Amino acid sequence: MRPFEYVRATDAAHGVAAVTQQPGARFLAGGSNLIDLMKEDIERPVRLVDISHLPLTAIERGDAGLAIGALARNADTANHPLVRERYPLLTEAIVAGASGQIRNMATNGGNLLQRTRCPYFYDIATPCNKRQPGSGCAARQGLNRIHALFGWSDACVATYPGDMANALVALDARITLLDADGARRAMPLAELYRLPDDTPHLDTTLPYGALILGIELPDDAAAFASHSHYLKVRDRASYAFAMVSVAVALEIDGGVVRRARIVMGGVSHMPWRSTAAETLLVGEAPTAARFEQAAEVAFRHARPLAHNEYKIPLGKRAVARALAQAARLA
Ligand code: SF4
Repeated sequence: MRPFEYVRATDAAHGVAAVTQQPGARFLAGGSNLIDLMKEDIERPVRLVDISHLPLTAIERGDAGLAIGALARNADTANHPLVRERYPLLTEAIVAGASGQIRNMATNGGNLLQRTRCPYFYDIATPCNKRQPGSGCAARQGLNRIHALFGWSDACVATYPGDMANALVALDARITLLDADGARRAMPLAELYRLPDDTPHLDTTLPYGALILGIELPDDAAAFASHSHYLKVRDRASYAFAMVSVAVALEIDGGVVRRARIVMGGVSHMPWRSTAAETLLVGEAPTAARFEQAAEVAFRHARPLAHNEYKIPLGKRAVARALAQAARLA
């Protein structure tokens, strides 16, 4: 590991200033992704700004829903009574996301910002536009079994590896930020993520120096609590990143689907929502046949690579099964 300067932030504004004033600085929270990347010489921060002790850990009802601190641990978030009762999809996704030990360390903000698990990204002997812009993409001609089906570019075919974000996007979550200029703002979580295009070294739309302060879940997303499910398909059931995952949420009233959310993981550089598949469900009875049609639509525009075509039938079955489980047909 390379030498770096350590700065302990006194508050959020100090932390943002300490990163903003030093190009190549990084925030340090749980460290469950960043420290691994530093050990592998992929991340080379010249300054680590420790925010792990800042009071951004509360989980509480607010004016418009549930406010969840960015520095609350994943384990505490998943186990919180209000999350379990009102947003069980989030609990399921967090539990699916990592081992108990990692959930105890990882923070919510860090979880949202975790970096791809493309094996070439981790192998500094290979070209990777995400790690070293302009060097090429080893996965395009290499083994790309775990890579993207949607939204990839010639520059990068990596997937976003998280689970928590898929559930949060399905639940219409927003994040609150402290920008480098000291301004606070909120934005839909879905807008944090981006496709790789020609600049895959940019994982998200978050400006340099901006700090995620918290996550807000709207009250009306609690209407999904009775009919939601997170399904993750992976090589090892115990602990692995998704080949395909899906967060589904249905609001069913009078035997009819009133609102639907389908957000897939492991298939794109960002949580991949299929509004076309959702639309197919709204106003209809929740039946297995309808769910299979929605799954077909969700993968209609998939563009497989040399080794990941298997994800299309797998993903369709995952979507249909998750919907059936959410509707309690399965
Ligand atoms: Fe790097 Fe993206 Fe290519 Fe993987 S897919 S080698 S992360 S550029």
